[in-house]
Amino acid sequence: MRSKKGCFDSPFCRFWVFTKREKVMEIRYVDVADITKNIKEMCMEANFVLSEDMKKALENAKNTEHSPIGKKVLGDLEENLAIADKERIPICQDTGMAVVFIEIGQRVHFQGGNLEDAIHAGVRQGYQEGYLRKSVVSDPIERKNTGDNTPVVIHYSIVDGDGVKITVAPKGFGSENMSKIHMLKPAQGLEGVKEAIIKTVKEAGPNACPPMVVGVGIGGTFEKSALMAKQALTREVGEHSPIPWAKDLEVEMLSEINRLGIGPAGLGGSTTALAVHINTYATHIAGLPVAVNICCHVNRHITRSL
Ligand code: SF4
Repeated sequence: MRSKKGCFDSPFCRFWVFTKREKVMEIRYVDVADITKNIKEMCMEANFVLSEDMKKALENAKNTEHSPIGKKVLGDLEENLAIADKERIPICQDTGMAVVFIEIGQRVHFQGGNLEDAIHAGVRQGYQEGYLRKSVVSDPIERKNTGDNTPVVIHYSIVDGDGVKITVAPKGFGSENMSKIHMLKPAQGLEGVKEAIIKTVKEAGPNACPPMVVGVGIGGTFEKSALMAKQALTREVGEHSPIPWAKDLEVEMLSEINRLGIGPAGLGGSTTALAVHINTYATHIAGLPVAVNICCHVNRHITRSL
């Protein structure tokens, strides 16, 4: 057996070390302080300014809304957005529970501390510095407010490369509470999926603060469908699924939902939803999970790549 010293002294092992050094060169070091700083800024930005795609969708809806009261509500929402942006104040009093999606390239190595702590710190600082309402309780039954809007709901994924992509999506609970998972039988098929989506939106009615964006996850397991539905809400509004049947379903469901008459703020009208986004995944032969995650008109999501 070679000693460590002997091993490093041999020509063979120098090659190994050289090879290893080359691999080390490929690693990208990211300081967790950068994660904290970006998440802090993103929490404030997401709560003060709605993304361009959402603003455009609201503007289009105002132009096409049939009901005068619906038009007026959409105009009020636009005015509210403009004030929040100008004054740097929250768009809504419900500044949400922070949901963070983080995609990490497998060549990234974090340094300077623990990544998860850094994410929580970013949210804590953002909600404190931005004077955003602290809406998180530490225990679902005892319900004591944590005072800093942490902990955060974090979803990690490991991808190729050396990038880090962060999406911060503060989620309001008026609409979160109206979301549902339906564990359908395979025989219920597409018709069953349609019924599940429409039933969920109908039951949500004005409680989900419409006009809403409807995220749908079809397939996977119980929890995978819910995660896909949540992720669907972060898609650019109106961007369609690349899967032809899912795209057709998005179009059909949006039209059906807008025929329900719930309207902006639930006061009636032709704009109940701005978009339906569907994500799909493989599933078990015995099941057809369908998760419907509803978001209100304050569909906050902001993405940065580091
Ligand atoms: S559901 Fe949305 S619009 Fe309604 S109170 Fe919560 S954040 Fe505000």
